[in-house]
Amino acid sequence: MKFGYVSWLPQTELVSKFIEELKNKRLMGTQCKQCAAKYLPPRAHCKCGSHEMEWFEAPKTGKILTYTLVTFGPESMAKYAPYIIAVAELDDGSRLLAHITGVTPKTLKVDMRVQVVSHHVTEDRIVYKFRPTE
Ligand SMILES: [Zn+2]
Repeated sequence: MKFGYVSWLPQTELVSKFIEELKNKRLMGTQCKQCAAKYLPPRAHCKCGSHEMEWFEAPKTGKILTYTLVTFGPESMAKYAPYIIAVAELDDGSRLLAHITGVTPKTLKVDMRVQVVSHHVTEDRIVYKFRPTE
């Protein structure tokens, strides 16, 4: 199983675990034991230089902070255009960037409540995306 519409994450052990959890509808990130920085998707090293990371389960609800309508995406994404990419702040304060569906540029608003859902793009590809909760 791979993550993403195209492979932009290297297929490491960390990413494999992230994908396995996503299949089970859990959104897992890593948190630095030294400075408490959180990473979604997970990273093995923190920007503070620490390699001591531990898993945490992120909440799958949050609100939209900002979004952008992509009319002409990169080639690999062109068949999905136009689409909307949003940044949401999850209920634990983590930030996540993802595709949002179930909205139009007219109905989408900053502060809108969203949920994070896992979505199989093809049989062997999975992504997470946002969907409005109401
Ligand atoms: Zn750190």
